[in-house]
Amino acid sequence: MAARIGLLGGTFDPIHFGHLRAAEEAYQKLALDKVIFLPTAVPPHKKRPDLSPFSLRFEMVRLALSGVPYFEVSDLERRLPKPSYSIKTLEVLKEQVPGGEFFFILGFDAFLEFETWYEYQRIPTLAHLIVVTRGGGDEAAFAAKVRELFPESKQENNFWWRLPRGFSVRYLPILRLDISSTFLRKAVKNRESIRFLTPDPVRDFIFAHGLYAADLASPGAREDYDKSPE
Ligand code: NAP
Repeated sequence: MAARIGLLGGTFDPIHFGHLRAAEEAYQKLALDKVIFLPTAVPPHKKRPDLSPFSLRFEMVRLALSGVPYFEVSDLERRLPKPSYSIKTLEVLKEQVPGGEFFFILGFDAFLEFETWYEYQRIPTLAHLIVVTRGGGDEAAFAAKVRELFPESKQENNFWWRLPRGFSVRYLPILRLDISSTFLRKAVKNRESIRFLTPDPVRDFIFAHGLYAADLASPGAREDYDKSPE
């Protein structure tokens, strides 16, 4: 039987429990064999001059996944032409794993802008689209968006739309964890705690490398940070 492979692309600057939970729920609910995390080298849609280097974002993902046998991280997009277009990544993965059945996981916000993605219509000719939605409750908006993007799709039920060529678009409600990378970056800059929002090894890595607040890497700064009053 073909391996069922989830793909979660992201800027991951930094990775947090929201990303991990989305991958975990997709893994379990869709009976995937594994989920590959794909840090983007140059995000096509985010022009952030302060973007952390690929090697550091990759390392944070690697640390976050450690000990989970069905999660892995790939540096594929570092090696592909920039910016990192998802369709190009999928084409290469399809060649690398010829028999694999791919499930491209993305959040609802990303899905609402899907028509801005490079050659977006070709993406579900290579992979199923799995739209993870924090808390659920957006079924009507999801249905309207699927109709707009893929008028040729056929609705099976509120959660599942069939596309030509055997692929589908699925709506996957997941636990709502209102954590964002933007929040984490701001919190570090403002000396607010990020404990319990990202795995401890990622938190340690952020401090050790002075990510989001360069002066935090200096001796003693970490202790001051941990004890800083509200
Ligand atoms: P990100 O901010 O690191 O987030 C990665 C994914 O995790 C997103 O789909 C996001 O969904 C989801 N997520 C974030 N916080 C979450 C939470 N608390 N709970 C559950 N899910 C959460 O990455 P990104 O910068 O949006 O990039 C996503 C991927 O899309 C990348 O692989 C990028 O290359 C790709 N992309 C491709 C194109 C293109 O091909 N032209 C254009 C744009 C993006 P939400 O969007 O809902 O936050």
